[in-house]
Order: sequence, then structure tokens, then C-alpha cells
Amino acid sequence: MNNNKAMNRRAFLAASALGAGLGLLPRPLAASAQAASRPNIILFLVDDMGWQDTSVPFWREETLFNRHYRTPNMERLARQGVRFTNAYAHAVCSPTRTSIMTGWSPARHHVTNWTLNPDEDTSRGWAPRDWKKQGMQPDDVSLARLLRDAGYFTIHCGKAHWGARGTPGEDPRRLGFDVNIAGHAAGAPGSYHGLQNFGNKEKGGHTAPWGVPGLEHYHGQDIDLTDALTLEAEKALEQAVALDRPFYLYMSHYTVHTPIQPHNRFHKKYVGQNYPGTDIAIPPVEAEYASMVEGMDASLGALLQKVEALGVAESTLVIFASDNGGLSAHSRGETPYGTGLNTHNKPLRAGKGSAYEGGTRVPFIAAWAEPAADNPAQKRLPIEAGAISEQPLISEDLFPTILGAGGALDAIPETHPLDGRDLRGYFQACEKETVRPLYFHYPHTWGPQGPGYEPHSAMRVGDWKIIYFYQPKRWELYNLARDIGESNDLATAEPERLAQMAGKLKRDLVAMGAQWPVDNETNEEEPMELPETLRASR
Ligand code: CA
Repeated sequence: MNNNKAMNRRAFLAASALGAGLGLLPRPLAASAQAASRPNIILFLVDDMGWQDTSVPFWREETLFNRHYRTPNMERLARQGVRFTNAYAHAVCSPTRTSIMTGWSPARHHVTNWTLNPDEDTSRGWAPRDWKKQGMQPDDVSLARLLRDAGYFTIHCGKAHWGARGTPGEDPRRLGFDVNIAGHAAGAPGSYHGLQNFGNKEKGGHTAPWGVPGLEHYHGQDIDLTDALTLEAEKALEQAVALDRPFYLYMSHYTVHTPIQPHNRFHKKYVGQNYPGTDIAIPPVEAEYASMVEGMDASLGALLQKVEALGVAESTLVIFASDNGGLSAHSRGETPYGTGLNTHNKPLRAGKGSAYEGGTRVPFIAAWAEPAADNPAQKRLPIEAGAISEQPLISEDLFPTILGAGGALDAIPETHPLDGRDLRGYFQACEKETVRPLYFHYPHTWGPQGPGYEPHSAMRVGDWKIIYFYQPKRWELYNLARDIGESNDLATAEPERLAQMAGKLKRDLVAMGAQWPVDNETNEEEPMELPETLRASR
């Protein structure tokens, strides 16, 4: 890394002091000149989007669901950049969003479940006693703040879901964003439809907790929330370019989270149709869901077009991700794979909230908005067009990756350890993949019953994945290269590998300060028990 660390640190502190309270004013000239050579960054984050909720395959083959969903703009992005076929998020919203902002595993930041009210445990059973129910707060290290202090114009658009209601952290502007469009404590909109005021009872009003704030201008109009957010994001991009500052746009769509409602511009083409290549009808709710997916993709296309129109496409890095696996435990319709629940991510097992791959495996693409090999920003960060990388990655990797792209890695406080890794080295497929452990820690009872939805911790290393379920206590072991559907538990067949991986998982969780769940009936903490201890106690 940079050997001018001391100087950069001073510059960082000075920028922080200057930045306080300045709002939308341009940065001082020096910071602006320094920032001018940096790329713009768009993190396009979709809520609850499953690994196959796209026509871009993120596996060795195109699947039935890839043929069902239509995402031409994601296809374009994948052609222009690198797609990652082993990308992960955490099992539910707030943990992933806090990991992106802090570079920390949920095991360390303790926002281990979704948040709403500062004193409310949203868990439906087991949970750690002191998990961070208030969510992310202004005194936490924040990706957005580090970028702003480095000269970036930071735009939040869409779902925030960091701090709980009534806390400072519910406002993205308190977490380092210059602009907040429609973000607050809640993790879902009351409605996607402008005709329903996006879930606010009265036109121009705000109805807590689910009414989307800040889009009063669109109330009563026949417009989808996804489109309204896109229009507002476009205005903020114009503002950033007029200020002559590089921008960080955190385009955090509420879609495709529940409530599942038709995106009217795209809905008709799925109604009354069959799943491609089958004689199985697409049920109404799945037609609506597919229209939401296509609406999300249209937003990506509109933003790509906007940066092109503003003349900044060549210097704009776009990263596409989702915050957890596709919902499959409730609210969904039948699929060609069966009667409904836990079939929406097949061949992956289960969905959002589960320890299995359906809960955490997500789409992930990095690309320049317009590839141009001679552009200075692209020379510094080359991305291979049409590349596929099998390098495993996880949400907290976005923190060092985005700060690295923004030239702000040195601004990370020295006291702030990093769980995420800088992914920029993998933006060219010729880069060799490295084996590294990925950690999952969801010690909560989410609510819905089904495969893998119990409190759990897990770790993937290479092709192997180990899962510990706290309730009832058990270990499972899978080889994902041979068994992506996690149907063949090898815990009994491979006792040595199980013991070795279990020991590592527990040691590393303890080192990160992970909290264990508490049995809500006995009020006893239930630490992870290693396989040999479990065997001895039986
Ligand atoms: Ca989510």
C-alpha cells in the first residue's frame, strides 16, 4: 500500500474536519483536484434478488430460471465486465448492508439480524442477548463517510435499513451521505405504486413505519417506486457532475423485496404465459415478481444511459450485487420444481434466511459503464470484458474494494480491522483465484420454518462448506463443487475434515467477537459445540 500513510492520514483528518456541516458545498480545491482523477462509483444493490433472478447465468450452465427472467441490461453489464459465480451475501438485509458499510463480518459488527425499532428483537425465538438492535450508527466507521471525506459526492438512493427508527443512524446523511433519497429505518416499502403513495396513507404525508419517505412529488401518480427512485438518482448524478466531483451512488433498490406487486410497464408480458420450455403456467404472483425483476433491470439500463449522456460513462465503475438470496420461504408462487416454497432458487437449496446456498448465493458483476482501454481510470483498474471469475467473495469485500477504487484505502482508521478483502485483483480473469474462508453468522430464529432456517453459523473454504445449527445442535458438511444443492451431508463420512473445519470456524468466530444465541425458553447462552463434544454428550 501507500508509503505516504502519515501524510494521507493528516489529509484525511483535515478533510473530515472541513467536511463536517458543509452539506452540499463543493470540497476545497485541493481535495477536488485530487478527486478529479478518481472514478465515479455506482453500487447497484438489489434487495432480496436471488442468484438466478436474471437472464445472466452465474453458474456453469444456463438454468430454467435464467430463461424465465429478462434482464438485458445485466447481460450488457456482464459482457462489459467480470461476473463472479461464487458471490455471497449474508442471510438477511441489515447484516449485509452493515457489512458493506463497515468491511466487517456480522460476527464482528453484531447487527446480526434485520432492524426496525431500537429496543425490538425482530428474532422469532433464539437470538444473542445483546445483538445491535439499534443498527448502524454515526460513530461506526462508514464507507460513505470515508469516500465523502476523500472528496466524493455521496448519494444514497432507495432502501437504507441501517439504523433503527428514532435513532440518528436511520438517516443516511448521518452515516456519510451528502444526499438521501427515500431512505429510512424500514427495510420494505408499504407499496411500490405511486397511486398508493408508496404506502403512505395520505398524499404528501408519511405513514410510519412502512411508508416510503421523501417522494411526495410522485404521490398519486401512476409510477412505480423503482422508476421514481431512478429519476431521482438521475437528478443527483446531474448535481454531482455539475459540482465537478466524483460521485458514489449507492443505488439501493427496495425492489425485489416484498410486497410483490406488478411493475406495470413489464407485467403484461408474463401474464398467462408458461415457464419457458414447459407447459407449466406462471402463477400470478410469479408474473408480478418477474415484472419487478425486469423493472429493476430497466433502472440499471437507465443509469448506464444517464452516465453516458453526462459524458462520464468511461470513468464510472459499476458494481452489481444483491443483499441476500432469493425469498422462497413465504409469499411466493409455484414453480416448475414443485408446489411453491423453497423451490425458487433450485438447484440451490432454500432461500433468504437459510444457511443453505439459496439463502446467501447472489449475482455479482463489476464493469466500467463504458469500456475504454485508454481511459486513465480504466488503465489504473482494468476490468476484463466478458470475464467469469470463480473467486469466492462476500458483502464485506465491497468496503476495501470500493475504497481502493476511490483511492481512499489509507483513510481506513488503523484501529479498524478488515474482514473483507479488496477484490480489484480479480477484475481480470487471468488473476489466479485464492482459497480463503468466508464466514456466515446468523444466530437468530428468522421466523419461517423450512430447510436451514434455524439459527446457524457457516464457513466456506474452497469447495467445502460447513454449517453449524444451534437448535437443534448439529453439524453438516458439503462439497459445493459436486453438490451445489447441498443434498449429500458428508459430516459422518469425513470426520477429520469436519473436526478441522469446525475448530477453525469456532476459533475465528471467537476471534471476531461473535455473540452466541440464547435459548429463549431457558435464557441460557448456547455456544457452538464442536463435533467431538457433541458426540461425547450423546
Ligand atoms: Ca434483503
